[in-house]
Amino acid sequence: MTSLPCAVPLGVRLGFAEVTTATTFDVIDPATEKVLAAVSDATSTEWNAALDKAVPAGEIWAKATPRDRSEVLRRIFDRIHERASDFAEVMTLEMGKPVAEAKGEVAYGAEYFRWFAEEAVRIPGRAGTAPAGIGSMIITRTPVGPVLAITPWNFPLAMATRKIAPALAAGCPVIVKPAQETPLTMLLLGEVITEVLQEADAPDGLVSIIPTTKSADLSAELMADPRLRKVTFTGSTAVGRHLVRQSADNLLRTSMELGGNAPFVVAADADLDLVLTCAAQAKMRNGGEACIAANRFLVDESIAEEFTERLTEVMASFSTGHGLDDGTKLGPIITAKQRDSIHALVTDAIDNGATLTIGGEIPPGPGFFYPATVLANVPHDTKILHEEIFGPVATIATFSTLDEGIALANNTPFGLAAYGFSENVHTATRLANELQAGMVGINRAAISDPAAPFGGIKQSGFGREGGTEGIEEYLDVKYIALP
Ligand code: NAD
Repeated sequence: MTSLPCAVPLGVRLGFAEVTTATTFDVIDPATEKVLAAVSDATSTEWNAALDKAVPAGEIWAKATPRDRSEVLRRIFDRIHERASDFAEVMTLEMGKPVAEAKGEVAYGAEYFRWFAEEAVRIPGRAGTAPAGIGSMIITRTPVGPVLAITPWNFPLAMATRKIAPALAAGCPVIVKPAQETPLTMLLLGEVITEVLQEADAPDGLVSIIPTTKSADLSAELMADPRLRKVTFTGSTAVGRHLVRQSADNLLRTSMELGGNAPFVVAADADLDLVLTCAAQAKMRNGGEACIAANRFLVDESIAEEFTERLTEVMASFSTGHGLDDGTKLGPIITAKQRDSIHALVTDAIDNGATLTIGGEIPPGPGFFYPATVLANVPHDTKILHEEIFGPVATIATFSTLDEGIALANNTPFGLAAYGFSENVHTATRLANELQAGMVGINRAAISDPAAPFGGIKQSGFGREGGTEGIEEYLDVKYIALP
């Protein structure tokens, strides 16, 4: 067993209590394939106990003053920063990303607590007179109620803080079900949140963390309980669709942050130095295991050769290794299964005529590594251009006119992020307006910001996280009619 940098609580967190269960499951370091820890595997007993605690805690919390809620959130932000290196190391160990990137995620994930601390005291409302003059109307907001948050493994901290922070700011209790591959970061966060809530005399049961191997049972049972009022999910489109169906009987509020297939469109007049810097960022952030990762480089054919050569050079600099080792720029893929599915897409593309310029081979173990890979001249109907790669593989396809480039970019059922590059204001404006996605970066790859609404359209889901929109997901609108 690899040793963890700090004592992570390995039991299920039921509000303030840490509870161990009869069975456990192993968490693996994907860089070494060694067991990192054995975590309590929650069952029906624990998740129902979490909801039993959440309901009364939520009733008290909903009545806490916005300022009190805000201050609790702000303290959680501070406390995450105090433990930043613990969070970063635990995250690198269980997920694989280089520790510098993990530190970036800690700062980014914590920022949701600061942002929503500020939003907690600005929950909107309005008052007016009825047009017929027969009375007044007050429009206010009330907390939705108990929330189930289900999160993926790729950003073990931030994908959950984007949900916990606005829920608490709005006055809702939250039950978090982290991904089975990466529960340790969330258990550490549960401990930090518990410390702050206890110091603030907040009610017990506002935040529970329920690691389990029985996710489908947990969601089916909790979502059928009329006391639960909301499900917020980040993960694959297939599971999101299933959860939306499951939410129907109980008419739950839902937010769905699902898969993507981001196009990165490079017009002939783009600044190639800037494009290359942004291409590396958009493709290789989180080793390509990001929902907003550039999945398809769509490049004007007049510059495709130069772009391919230069991108190949950039990708060659991404050396693989353990995320805690100096010099590592690319960690392992999360599991062998995920690595094999990336390789299958690469092999299929080569079989269908794509040109491999670098990478493309699974190295010997241990660890689920996959090298930085570039595929050029990828035919437009190849599977890899239509599925989410979720790995360090850059695909390059070409277009001959901007109309064709935009049409290719939009030829996907997904619509999470899109990127467009041009030095011409008219072309850039067309890309901004015509790329079909919830988020569009123009001459820019780093688009995530807690102050901006993150989310998709089409099969990438609905609902927004962050921005002033993010808290609305946890609020119901209430209209009060007065004489
Ligand atoms: P996944 O859908 O397999 O799992 C996500 C979570 O759902 C995990 O906690 C998992 O245990 C749980 N889960 C799986 N089946 C379930 C079920 N039947 N009922 C309840 N819970 C269930 O996705 P993943 O492989 O962990 O993550 C990768 C996917 O997440 C990619 O498609 C990626 O694009 C997407 N993602 C989206 C965003 C976004 O904001 N849009 C962010 C990060 C990741």
